[in-house]
Amino acid sequence: MLSGIQPTSGSFHLGNYLGAVRQWVDLQEANDAFYMVVDLHAITVPQDPKLLRENTRVSAAQLLGAGLDPEHCTLFVQSHVPEHAQLGWVMNCLTGFGEAARMTQFKDKSAKQGADSTTVGLFTYPILQIADILLYQADAVPVGEDQRQHVEITRDVAERFNTRYSPTFTVPKPYILKETAKIQDLQDPAVKMSKSASSPKGLVSLLDEPKVSAKKFKSAVTDTGTVVSYDEEEKPGVSNLLRIHSALSGQSVEQLVAHFEGKMYGALKTELAELFTEWVTPFQERTRTFLDDPAELDRVLAVGAEKARAVASQTLETVYDRIGFLPAA
Ligand code: ATP
Ligand code: MG
Repeated sequence: MLSGIQPTSGSFHLGNYLGAVRQWVDLQEANDAFYMVVDLHAITVPQDPKLLRENTRVSAAQLLGAGLDPEHCTLFVQSHVPEHAQLGWVMNCLTGFGEAARMTQFKDKSAKQGADSTTVGLFTYPILQIADILLYQADAVPVGEDQRQHVEITRDVAERFNTRYSPTFTVPKPYILKETAKIQDLQDPAVKMSKSASSPKGLVSLLDEPKVSAKKFKSAVTDTGTVVSYDEEEKPGVSNLLRIHSALSGQSVEQLVAHFEGKMYGALKTELAELFTEWVTPFQERTRTFLDDPAELDRVLAVGAEKARAVASQTLETVYDRIGFLPAA
């Protein structure tokens, strides 16, 4: 298993947790799992240096607060393992320009930013991500739906390398849970909740005061109907709230629809706000204990980086050899 999360804002959001991080926790014991805070990816858009450093620690603390256990997985910071950038270059040279230009996330983000403020790094970030995944010979990549296309391109490039040189890379599959793959923005249920694109009211930040998030659930955009039912086309807002409730409560959407029969949207929102508060309060407490001891946090990350490098450097050495680079004497 391999996956990563950007330290672009201090707090993760509920989509990050339900779509990705929760699976990381569930998968860490039965698998050889590598999880990282992807600071190299974060600088595809401008970052304040002081904040980036702080947000990297805050991200790692949230991963531990969510339940990652360094005894059961390898947790590290991407820039601590230089092989990512090194293999990234090789992958740049194996990926077609047109192939990269088809990435819909790049098209969306660059359209929003405009050509002059879009970096080449944003364009090639999915290719760095190919290197991230292949360095660890990952079989599966637990991510949200928005990353499916990036795992697909990873498969294509891995197969290309294996054919052109010799079998070298495991060809990875996306690991995406349908129910939580795409948590929508609370104010605009047509689009995914996003660190970079959501408005504050649409975004449930895990480190906000639970009261603030409760308010956001209560003012979530729904529709003019009154019956709580699941219909992604006609009722995207209500369906999103039902999916979040189901993920947090463990009840199926069918059970919830029956439970809310005869009740209005307000009842669903209130219950959801309570459920979220119940989950997020201990999460915040655990995260805070890791933040209160930055020396220990840095130690955990240093151990993780060393474990990651041991694997990554071997893969890179094999790749350099297969490509025909002259070994350093
Ligand atoms: P940005 O908008 O800047 O890309 P992000 O919100 O997508 O930020 P990332 O750090 O890029 O956050 O993604 C971390 C993980 O969270 C990825 O696996 C991604 O697929 C997943 N993810 C992000 N948003 C959602 C969402 N709304 N629903 C489910 N999973 C999500
Ligand atoms: Mg993203």
